[in-house]
Amino acid sequence: MAVITVEPENEHITARTVYCVGRNYADHAREMGAEVPSEPVVFIKPATAVINGEAPIVLPTFSNDIHYEIELVALVDEVPKNISIEAADRYIIAYGVGLDLTARDIHSVAKKKGLPWATAKGFDGAAPVSRFKKKESGLINTTTTLRLTINNQVRQQDCIGNMIFSIPAIIAHLTKYFSLRRGDLIFTGTPEGVGQLQPGDSVKAEIVNIVSFSTRVQKL
Ligand code: MG
Repeated sequence: MAVITVEPENEHITARTVYCVGRNYADHAREMGAEVPSEPVVFIKPATAVINGEAPIVLPTFSNDIHYEIELVALVDEVPKNISIEAADRYIIAYGVGLDLTARDIHSVAKKKGLPWATAKGFDGAAPVSRFKKKESGLINTTTTLRLTINNQVRQQDCIGNMIFSIPAIIAHLTKYFSLRRGDLIFTGTPEGVGQLQPGDSVKAEIVNIVSFSTRVQKL
């Protein structure tokens, strides 16, 4: 089980279910040839997908096309069911950065056939995350920037103000269906610029001036 470290007190919280939102930046929806959604597109990764972002990314053998997707990640507390958007913010414990690793070959076939995304998105290690920063007022705002750098080239960069659904809106939506528990993680979608990881790549994922992690990509 991956344990999340929350700075500055270095509190440890065991990661539980990973709730992910797809197509939450219009430019990324367009690059995937998908419609901009009218409500959040939700999928789940199991807790076994979560790994420490500083650990190497080991490419699994069942895919020839593992993609990176940098995302802002919220760590939440237990949240009452059917919470309002206005009341949801207080249940966010901390923010971090993560990669929604995706076996794009499996994902593309599943989408075409109308099948679930579970294996394409939920495999072991498919959710590397940074250390987290405890939420405080002003820590993040609409100009907060996500940036993914591979081999010293910026591949993805956008500000979170471009998200279609805000984090409280995502939480409110999730609680219609799910009982969110302390330690659940919410991946909030990726901006445009997703692409393939190659063995030997050096990867830096950051919420600029807030949190980051660096790692390398390896073959199994
Ligand atoms: Mg994603």
